[in-house]
Amino acid sequence: MVENSNSEQISVAEFISVIVYLAEKSGNIIREVYRSKDIGQEEKDFGQGPVTIADLRVQRNIEYNLKQLYPTLNVQGEEDPATYAHFPPTIAPADITKTLISQDFLNSFHAKRAPYLDQLRKVYSESSPDATVFDKFDVKDAVVWIDPLDGTSDFVKGNLPAVTVLIGLSIKGHSRIGVVHNPFGDEDQSKGRTLFGTIEHGLFRIEYDEEVKDREAYLSREIKYIEPFNFTDSPPEDHSFTVAASLSHFSAQMKSIIESIHPVSIKRIGGAGNKCANVALGVVDTYMHPTAGLKYWDLCASEILIKAMGGYTTNVFEERLTYPADGDRQLQGLIIARNPQYHGMIVRRLAPLMQGIRAFFR
Ligand SMILES: [Mg+2]
Repeated sequence: MVENSNSEQISVAEFISVIVYLAEKSGNIIREVYRSKDIGQEEKDFGQGPVTIADLRVQRNIEYNLKQLYPTLNVQGEEDPATYAHFPPTIAPADITKTLISQDFLNSFHAKRAPYLDQLRKVYSESSPDATVFDKFDVKDAVVWIDPLDGTSDFVKGNLPAVTVLIGLSIKGHSRIGVVHNPFGDEDQSKGRTLFGTIEHGLFRIEYDEEVKDREAYLSREIKYIEPFNFTDSPPEDHSFTVAASLSHFSAQMKSIIESIHPVSIKRIGGAGNKCANVALGVVDTYMHPTAGLKYWDLCASEILIKAMGGYTTNVFEERLTYPADGDRQLQGLIIARNPQYHGMIVRRLAPLMQGIRAFFR
């Protein structure tokens, strides 16, 4: 891929407002398709799993709107343009709310997190230098990674809380801004949840109700800051890990890899984006994906939520994840944990199996 030679500054607060809006309205499209009873399920080529009209319509809408607002921005999505280009966009650029989040609001959390950021910066060198506000980025360094509907295999089975809309932004190859929207809640499937975050500003949660159509009500929702994990504590040697494991792809091999880090308790959770959100929210300690299959758009949005919380994310070679614009889109497995020490303990316990896990990739 040719590098983006355009240079143009985009406001961080505006961009977050825009991608929150697009993710939440995409959730409405997913609900609409689900209720229509004809979700248009098809199998993708090369065993890539199912795709539905919802996946295609959402990608069409997000991509169309981002291109209308930011024509020079590099936007990359999971689905092939040939499969969704014929869907007319149903979200109008003029309706997008650009002021849900203000830069002052973000800056106030940045200031409050200053001591915490001093710790995080040792690991996340891509974050803004000390006392520098993160208020804009240049399109020439940025790529937007979209997974319009993550958890399609769960969606087609009706495991609705597994479904997420993922919009992530990488800058110079690192995840920096992300939105993970669950259109269907765990308990009440008529209500959704939106998480967004950056390292600098932290992780935030907003409740979403599609019935609320009034713009004032949309804008006046509470934007709740989530206190991050302790970045320096270490688990006790006998720590029992709560591990997220798939609903739809839980093989005997996967089970034995998870059990090798015993003691563990396994929590079955659908969707890669949804599993990451559950690590960020502290529901589980870790999520591992020791095989191929994850792509940049599966992780860019959700990894930044974990980084915002002080969590730690690597591939199976213990390398930080990167999202280069000209990369092959493939991640070499995944190990995420609530902080670097928890991650280190998982890697130590996995050691007897690690050579076999890595051999799969190189
Ligand atoms: Mg998808």
